[in-house]
Amino acid sequence: MDHKITGSTRLGGLLGSPVAHSISPMMHNDSFQELGLDYVYLCFEVGPEKLPEVITAFRSMNVYGFNLTMPDKEAVIPCLDELSLAAQMIGAVNTVTCQNGKMTGHNTDGIGYMRAVEEAGYSVPGKEMTLLGAGGAASAIAVQAAIDGVSRLHLVSRRGRSWEKAGALVDQINQNTSCQADLTDLADTDGLRKNLERSALLTNATSVGMAPHADQTPIGDCSLFHPELIVSDVIYNPRRTRLLREAENAGCRTFNGMYMLLYQGEAAFRIWTGQNMPVELIKSRYFTEKESYE
Ligand code: NAP
Repeated sequence: MDHKITGSTRLGGLLGSPVAHSISPMMHNDSFQELGLDYVYLCFEVGPEKLPEVITAFRSMNVYGFNLTMPDKEAVIPCLDELSLAAQMIGAVNTVTCQNGKMTGHNTDGIGYMRAVEEAGYSVPGKEMTLLGAGGAASAIAVQAAIDGVSRLHLVSRRGRSWEKAGALVDQINQNTSCQADLTDLADTDGLRKNLERSALLTNATSVGMAPHADQTPIGDCSLFHPELIVSDVIYNPRRTRLLREAENAGCRTFNGMYMLLYQGEAAFRIWTGQNMPVELIKSRYFTEKESYE
């Protein structure tokens, strides 16, 4: 089916800087075409300083919605009318809906990760989880895991830039969900070992091990792995990080961040259109084990 731009085609897209590398236009435009939806998705290079005026224009133009990437995920919040519970708790928005001029912010990164856990064949509600990192990806995963019913979340961060944010995130989760969250210093190997002994799932949501630093790993001591532990990485470039390779060598089952990327987009697509993205088609085109996108 042709994807014709018509007089009534509705606009949406991605705001951030940089945006040119994004796979999102392919995912969404191919899906609109496949489902015969008269929507288009474009990328706009917009930093936080220009964001308020672009959003005012989007409101007037009655766009269907848009995504945000770095560095706009937090800066967009004052421009919106309301936030989902997850977006409020995370303090960041990656998806906005616009209905009759009213803009609502969501965060689908954690939804995407939890869907990727299911896709890999696992279920974590009622179980314990250890999560490394306290930046954007980690916050979104922590909040969604807690909302989805993980019983205990062990957040592990280095005492760096995000340490205070990590403490605030743990408080948010303990106050707003039935999940019990705690915080451990990444340098505390004994604490980390105890967390991992109790956990069904370990998730790396730091950037450690991402290309071009693929020789690095956030877990230097492989004796921390045990064969019942599922180990996942939000990184998808490279597809098999050092963390995943070493965990596999220790007998752990593993999966990478590729489907988190797919399913955060799928969740945004459903919020905008009310329809399911044709994920098998999108997987076959863009989500193969080949290192084909950033
Ligand atoms: P971010 O907000 O900058 O957070 C990075 C986190 O990693 C922070 O907690 C940071 O700690 C920690 N970190 C960095 N270097 C470290 C080191 N050497 N040792 C220990 N901790 C370290 O970045 P982000 O947006 O969360 O992204 C994190 C990773 O997730 C990136 O690789 C990104 O590509 C990936 N990601 C994947 C998806 C997906 O769909 N699969 C989506 C989003 C992000 P400090 O604050 O102390 O520096």
